[in-house]
Amino acid sequence: MSLTDSQFMRYSRHLLMDDIGEQGQEKLLNAHVLIVGMGGLGCPVSLYLVAAGIGQLSICDGDTVDQTNLQRQVLYTPEDCGKPKVECAQKRLNALNLETQINVYADKVTSQILAHNYTLVVDCTDNLAARQQLNAHCHQQKIPFVSASALGWEGQLVAFDFGHNTSLCLNCIIDKDSPEPMMNCGNSGVVGPVLGAMGSLQATTVIRILLGYFQQHGQIQRYDGKNGQWLTLGAEANQQCVICGTR
Ligand SMILES: [Zn+2]
Repeated sequence: MSLTDSQFMRYSRHLLMDDIGEQGQEKLLNAHVLIVGMGGLGCPVSLYLVAAGIGQLSICDGDTVDQTNLQRQVLYTPEDCGKPKVECAQKRLNALNLETQINVYADKVTSQILAHNYTLVVDCTDNLAARQQLNAHCHQQKIPFVSASALGWEGQLVAFDFGHNTSLCLNCIIDKDSPEPMMNCGNSGVVGPVLGAMGSLQATTVIRILLGYFQQHGQIQRYDGKNGQWLTLGAEANQQCVICGTR
């Protein structure tokens, strides 16, 4: 496969970089990425991945656009209210780059949706059950997995390169006493650009993994938007983990 003239222009700022170049751009063009959740994280992740020239993007979300989404879910406009998020997103993403094939699933993530052959899965959901389902599937199928969440002023990101390392997973580091199951953006609020920061970081991590530059399997990155601070935490595998544990 070689790039067309219009691809040379469109992706020229990638091609100018020695560590991306034509070979790297071809890796992006050949990738099929699944984004689960098209809310405050899924919007920036999908915009940047489509702009970057990811070849195929599947987006999955069962919700319709609500007026309360517009404060942070930057793909949607007031006219979209009441319509399925994935359909509105597909329209906007197609307008940005028709070269990316967009597949839409107006549904919660199911095993049928997961059965397709994805290069990488991005978790942009707002609930623990979906997160755990995606983690288990990606670990089992050895698919790289990029997960993020945000609440209030704070965001968190963790990624797993299961293609190269299966000894630590999201289930190992989920705090069982965490208040997350009760608290979400819907009842506790969130600052829109914090989702933008975390979504951009997810998209950057996707590109790093696809290009082979990712070394931080299981490392947790936390952003405190109120105090403007980033924190990186190491994580340890839990030998008793039901997903990846050896015992
Ligand atoms: Zn685990």
